[in-house]
Amino acid sequence: MDAGKYVDTFELTRTGLEVSGQTSLLHCERLTEDLPEQDDSPVSWSLRGEKDSFGRSYLHLRVKACPMLECQRCLAPFAWPIDAENRLQMVNTEAGLEDDAVLVEGQPEDFIERIVGSPRLDVLALVEDEIILSLPYVPKHDVCPSVSPLIVQHDESDTDAGRPSPFAVLSQLKKN
Ligand SMILES: [Zn+2]
Repeated sequence: MDAGKYVDTFELTRTGLEVSGQTSLLHCERLTEDLPEQDDSPVSWSLRGEKDSFGRSYLHLRVKACPMLECQRCLAPFAWPIDAENRLQMVNTEAGLEDDAVLVEGQPEDFIERIVGSPRLDVLALVEDEIILSLPYVPKHDVCPSVSPLIVQHDESDTDAGRPSPFAVLSQLKKN
């Protein structure tokens, strides 16, 4: 079942159906405004409804994308493949977002993100949020391709307690 921009989440959770679609990273403006230039690379997503035996409604979101990020160490762009899954509890009203947490299968329900159901949910906004949440706080290559082995060794020593990294010393010098 193909979907456009809007999804009826009540219909999805009632029927347990899945909708899926594809868009381009170039359409994710909130996401890309803080990122380096993006290719027209595909973002594919699916959203499946579910009702549990207690009558609670859930949406299973899956998002695949591959944005380009800028390495904060060497400033070169690199691809960051994302394959994210999230289970959201759907509530009927804004007030439902604030309901007390209930225990389900031994897990506090407040670990689950909640979303207000809608006959016209902007699914692409939801998809974009999921990608944003999947981005690293400080994007970095594991090993920067353009950095010499000597400097990589220095960088690994960052984890040694007490010793300031050469970069920290450098930035301190720049401040003075
Ligand atoms: Zn790098």
